[in-house]
Amino acid sequence: MRHMQQPLRTRWSLALLAALGCSGPKLTPELKPADPAEEIIAVHPPQGGVCADAQGTNSALVPKVPTADAVQSCPNPPAPDLSIPIDDFNPVRPMGVGYPGAINALPPHVAYLTFDDGPSEWTHTFLDILRDKDVRATFFVTAKQLKGPEGLDATYEDAGGKTVVFRDVLKREVDEGHQIANHTVNHIDLAHVTPAQITSEIDENEFLMNRALVRAGSKPQLFSLFRPPYGSPWFTGIAGPSEPQASARISSHGLNIMWTVTSGDATDWAIGESYSSSSMPTLGDKPPTFEVKKARVLHDVVESAPTLNGDGLVVLMHDTHSATRDVLPQIIDGLRAKGYSFETIEHYVNWRWNRPSLDLTPGPSLYDVSVPDRDWGCEALGDAPLGTDRASEVCGRLWVAYYALGGAEALGAPLGAPERSADTGIVSQPFEQASIELHPENPAPCNVIALPR
Ligand SMILES: [Zn+2]
Repeated sequence: MRHMQQPLRTRWSLALLAALGCSGPKLTPELKPADPAEEIIAVHPPQGGVCADAQGTNSALVPKVPTADAVQSCPNPPAPDLSIPIDDFNPVRPMGVGYPGAINALPPHVAYLTFDDGPSEWTHTFLDILRDKDVRATFFVTAKQLKGPEGLDATYEDAGGKTVVFRDVLKREVDEGHQIANHTVNHIDLAHVTPAQITSEIDENEFLMNRALVRAGSKPQLFSLFRPPYGSPWFTGIAGPSEPQASARISSHGLNIMWTVTSGDATDWAIGESYSSSSMPTLGDKPPTFEVKKARVLHDVVESAPTLNGDGLVVLMHDTHSATRDVLPQIIDGLRAKGYSFETIEHYVNWRWNRPSLDLTPGPSLYDVSVPDRDWGCEALGDAPLGTDRASEVCGRLWVAYYALGGAEALGAPLGAPERSADTGIVSQPFEQASIELHPENPAPCNVIALPR
C-alpha cells in the first residue's frame, strides 16, 4: 500500500460533512436548461447527500515535490527507466505534451487540430468546415475573453440578422463530436499571478463552461485538459518561481496540452482580418494582406518540419481569426494529402497513456519516477496491482474527492470503475459506504457529492 496517501487534513466523516450544512431539501441537481436570467444554477444535493469541495483547491492535496529519497523510501520500487532524462520528470513541469522538456510521443500521421480562445463569431463557420470535411478537433475555450462580461451568455448577430448565443456554439461543438477543454476565464498570463488566481481562473472557467452547457440544453463535463494562455510560463521566456507555481496548479486539475506545430495565426492581424463582424483589431506596423497571411498559415502547418516528417501533430490555431477560417479547408486537404487523419486530444491521451484524461491528474504519485506516468493519478485500493484493475482504483479528481470525503475510513473500497452517465453527464464511482459524484456544473462545495448507501 505504498501509494496509500494519508490525507493531510483531518479525515472527515460523512456525518461531519452533513453537519457542515450542505444537505438540502431537493432530490436532484437541476440539469434541465435553466432560465438564462437565473443568476446561478440551483444546487441541491440529493436526499442524504453531502457536498465537499474537491476541485483541487484543498492545498493539502496539491501534488508535492518529491524529496531526493522518494525512490529509496519505496519498499519494492520498479526500476526507473534510465533512458528517459531525469529532467523530464522535473517536478516543475506538469504532465502533458508540447512544452519544453515534455516527452512528445505522438502517433505518426495523426493531426490533432486545436482551436483556442473561442467561441467567436466565426466559430459556426469553422464547425461547418470541420463537419463537411468529417474532421474532429479540440477547442480550448475561454468563458469571457473577447465575449465580454456576459461571457458565454453574450450574443451576436449573424450575417442573416439572427441572434446567436455563444453558449449554443459551445453546445454545437459537443454535439458534433469535438472535444472542448479549459483555457482560463479571462486569458490571463499565468506567469504573473498568484497560485490562488491560477486556480480561480481554471475552476471558474470550468464552472462557467458547464453552466453554459446546461443552459444550452447540453450535459456537464469534467474538463481534464488545460492549455495555459500564451503557453505561459513555458513559451514566454520566463523562468523561476512562476513555472512550478503554474505547474502545481495545472497538475491539480488536468493535463497540460500545449502544441508541437503552430500556425502562427495569432502573431499578427492581416488587413481585413477580424475576430468579430463588428470590431476590427488594431493592426501592427507592417500588416500582411489577407491572402499573404492565409498562405503563410497554410505553409506553416502543412509544410512544417514535423509534418514533412510524418510525425503526429498537435496544431495550434485560433477560431477567432478570419484568415484561419478561410484557409482551414486547404489545411485539412493538405494534411490529408500527406496521409494524415484527424482526432481529438482525448484520442491522444488514450493512445499514449491507455487511460482517459480523467484518470491522469491529479493523483498520489505525480512526478514519482518509480511509477509509470500512466499510473501517476491513480491509487490501487484492492489486491490487484496498480494499473491492472480499474474497478479497484481511485484516480484523478475522484482520488482528490475520495480523500476530501474521508478516504477508506468513511467510504470503504471501490465497488466499480467510474462512469459518466449518458443521461446527466455526471461522473460517479461507487464505494462500499457511498458513491462519489463529480458535478462540475455546481459551484463548490457541491461540485462533489457523496451519496451514502
Ligand atoms: Zn489563447
